[in-house]
Amino acid sequence: MSHNGALLLDVPLDDRDGLIWLDGELVPWREARLHVLSHGLHYASSVFEGERAYAGRVFKLHDHSERLVASARELGFELPCTADDLDAATREVVRRSGITDGYARPVAWRGSHNLRLASGDIPVHVAIAAWPWPDVFAPGARLHGIRLGTSRWRRPSPHTAPVRAKAASLYAISTLAAHEAEAAGFDDALLLDHRGLLAEATGANLFLVLGQELHTPVPDCFLDGITRRTVIESARDLGVTVVERHIERGELAGATEVFLTGTAYEVQPVASVDDLEFTVGEVTTALVKAFEQAVARDAEVHDAAAAGAAG
Ligand code: PMP
Repeated sequence: MSHNGALLLDVPLDDRDGLIWLDGELVPWREARLHVLSHGLHYASSVFEGERAYAGRVFKLHDHSERLVASARELGFELPCTADDLDAATREVVRRSGITDGYARPVAWRGSHNLRLASGDIPVHVAIAAWPWPDVFAPGARLHGIRLGTSRWRRPSPHTAPVRAKAASLYAISTLAAHEAEAAGFDDALLLDHRGLLAEATGANLFLVLGQELHTPVPDCFLDGITRRTVIESARDLGVTVVERHIERGELAGATEVFLTGTAYEVQPVASVDDLEFTVGEVTTALVKAFEQAVARDAEVHDAAAAGAAG
């Protein structure tokens, strides 16, 4: 059966038409497989990216490609390709998949040469897939905000996990927290860090409006998101004071607005955390709009880079 053209929400990810880039070649979607004895599968020696395409262009593509290379290095392995190679391959996958608005997922993992923990220099595989994808949350979420529940799971200390990497191992925590939150009727989880300070959501960074200022936790034990950095820059351009600091959990009660940022979430207002409620206010609304403008500006950079690569 052909699934092309539809939004594919209910079609399993391993049973779709199309092409996936695997180790330098575009292969038929269903044939993009790995061996069951892959080091990456058993020991989480795997890193990935989540990228968003708008009007066929991947937002901040080069930043994502560089982060994939850097994440692999945090785990002690080198990718067999450069960030520039990843840029070109991702553009090709998005183009060949006919995606206008969608999601791209590059992933890299240690292969199946051996299953020793200290595996040595074994082959590393890289794959890139892309598919059409609407918003993460239901229509209206951007307008009214989502509901977060504080998780019992916490972000680990830098002594416990490779917290700077977008490493598969860290998503064991996110999946536990997301299941817990959904079972309790929330849209997503808010995670504290190993010290009990505010950290982030399962796949997005956290911002609070306190007084006239925008406050966000220091990313010293979780991902310093590309969207987070974009939004901080936009806020400063709008004349909003941005404070990065350690934030106590109790300070949430003093916030008037709360929002999350991430590739998938974009700028996502938060209506409540447990029984604390927030409004979708002026600062959040201005930053939702500023993010749309940042996407439009980045499209020009993307086109220039793509033209340079072609010429
Ligand atoms: N934290 C986590 C745990 C994430 O998975 C993500 C999504 N990549 C983010 C934060 C936000 O990062 P970015 O803005 O780069 O998507």
